[in-house]
Amino acid sequence: MKTIRNFIAGQFGPAEPPSAFDKRSPVDNRVIARVAEASRADVDAAVVAARAALHGPWGQLTLADRVDLLHAVADEMTRRFDDFVAAEAEDTGMPASVARHAFVPRGAANFKVFADMVKNVPTEFFEMATPDGKGALNYAIRRPVGVVGVVCPWNAPLLLMTWKVAPALACGNTVVVKPSEETPQTAVLLGEVMNAVGVPAGVYNVVHGFGPGSTGEFLTTHEGVDAITFTGETRTGAAIMQAAAVGARPVSLEMGGKNAAIVFEDCDFAAAIEGTLRSCFVNTGQVCLGTERVYVQRGLFERFVAALKAGAEKLKIGAPFEEGVGMGPLISQEHRQKVLGYYQRAVDEGATVVTGGGVPVMPGALAEGAWVQPTIWTGLPETAAVVREEIFGPCCHIRPFDNEAEVIALANDNGYGLSSAIWTTDLARAHRVAARIEAGIVWVNSWFLRDLRTPFGGMKQSGIGREGGVHSLEFYTELKNVCVKL
Ligand code: NAD
Repeated sequence: MKTIRNFIAGQFGPAEPPSAFDKRSPVDNRVIARVAEASRADVDAAVVAARAALHGPWGQLTLADRVDLLHAVADEMTRRFDDFVAAEAEDTGMPASVARHAFVPRGAANFKVFADMVKNVPTEFFEMATPDGKGALNYAIRRPVGVVGVVCPWNAPLLLMTWKVAPALACGNTVVVKPSEETPQTAVLLGEVMNAVGVPAGVYNVVHGFGPGSTGEFLTTHEGVDAITFTGETRTGAAIMQAAAVGARPVSLEMGGKNAAIVFEDCDFAAAIEGTLRSCFVNTGQVCLGTERVYVQRGLFERFVAALKAGAEKLKIGAPFEEGVGMGPLISQEHRQKVLGYYQRAVDEGATVVTGGGVPVMPGALAEGAWVQPTIWTGLPETAAVVREEIFGPCCHIRPFDNEAEVIALANDNGYGLSSAIWTTDLARAHRVAARIEAGIVWVNSWFLRDLRTPFGGMKQSGIGREGGVHSLEFYTELKNVCVKL
């Protein structure tokens, strides 16, 4: 049985860690690895190593050398592409095609994009008049925030971790990463990559474990951590914000969503169906930006429901490397219980189950996996739990609407505000509705199109702060003004 180790100061922890937990496969529930659980002392060692690297070899590199190293990280990730795909698929059960075409390439791209961005970041400069007539010059310089704690979720582990690690390192910080207990492998592979290309020891550290009373809490409450960046559930984000309040440390929080798709009668029907199918079911619905509420203009409602049902029923459910597989299992048995609880609740609350609602029959050992059927409901009031709460499974509720004002009110009537997708060929309407939707990202006639230079984050309970492009640089640097009297 393999051991997934901590990675501290450029060294992997012992093969027989003093404390460890099982990592099970979502596909068949087998134990696939033992994962070292970092103690408070391990977290402390990681923070100390990160601090030493910050003031030592990493801090002394020129910007150009740092940028070159981060490009080398991306290149080495690409060289080890198949290892990353295999590890990501084994941990999550996601179709290998999703890891191969979306999540792993984005992991490598994060390093290149943010390294290049840092090279070109402008600064502020002001000439100032003084009473003696000689004047003064003010200019701003960016400095790293310091040691950054990075707390990650399990749904797109490599992509979401590197989305934070890459800009943090590009800005000259060092990091201590806490991957999700469900997905420890790719963070460790990245440690191998860092060593292979010569990133100094202590720049990138990985500590495994759980949240409260474990590694996550040890890291976020550690006074040697200067800033915390987090992706995960809203209530975890709230706990982390509280931890960060001690020492008044900055936080960036990317949290849950209950995202709405809005489909107008004038849409490109095939594109709306294809996009909505993806946004509901890709990665088994475990995408923060995914759609769980669909509002369809009344004239199109029956046709849309029938087409989405047909698409959902065509999805091939299976293991990551099976030919043609379109949907994998959920991440764990525990998460499956939660999702199936909502499937039952929908029925109890009077939903019409258009398709799914249960567990598919899987062959052989796969019968033990965390499978659920892609599920579509109609007929529920907006007050129903499955319409209001984030389920994070392959499911959606579809409701008809009559006009623009009504659908904007429906879409906004939720505590989350992460993303939305609008399907219409009327450009004026698209702009009008996009401006009024309370969400950090609004897609028009698309979904999950991401340019890494753009701001990313959630409104309301979906997040605090923005990352992406210059917004990442804002979070991962301190801007200092230098005033020179002439
Ligand atoms: P989670 O909040 O349960 O866990 C996220 C991480 O936080 C894990 O590493 C966990 O161990 C750690 N953690 C838990 N409690 C902690 C505590 N008290 N202190 C410190 N660390 C703690 O989330 P999850 O189940 O892994 O991920 C799914 C959630 O993430 C969904 O709500 C989803 O919408 C959200 N998400 C948001 C985005 C976004 O960009 N907004 C992206 C992906 C996922």
